[in-house]
Amino acid sequence: MIIQKSLKLNTSKNFEIIDITSAINDLIDIDNGIISIFSRHSTTAIVVNENESGLLSDFEFMLENLVQDKFTYEHDRIDNNARSHLKSFLLSSSECLPIRNSRLDLGTWQSVFFVELDGPRSNRTLSLTIIGE
Ligand code: ZN
Repeated sequence: MIIQKSLKLNTSKNFEIIDITSAINDLIDIDNGIISIFSRHSTTAIVVNENESGLLSDFEFMLENLVQDKFTYEHDRIDNNARSHLKSFLLSSSECLPIRNSRLDLGTWQSVFFVELDGPRSNRTLSLTIIGE
């Protein structure tokens, strides 16, 4: 069976990390299989990691240092958000994850996050493809 769904998110900050683990679990209606979680935007990301506030601050700090303000970026001539796109290049637009017993089969310290890199925005859309039985 293949099921396609979407999940809409509104963000309230320029950089924001939203734990979507529970929202994804609520949308899983098969027992076992896989789920592809894909963000339909070029200034966002989907990542899996630990939901610890210090670590999430470190993640933002790392991205700010990798894609620094002090440089001039060519895409800023178009719509002034090159840094948001470049951070998205470093991350991933999707994750493909296992489903077991109708839930994401994550490790003890893992959560799934949507990362907003150019907010605030309304109607950020994630495309979910669930394959299994
Ligand atoms: Zn742009």
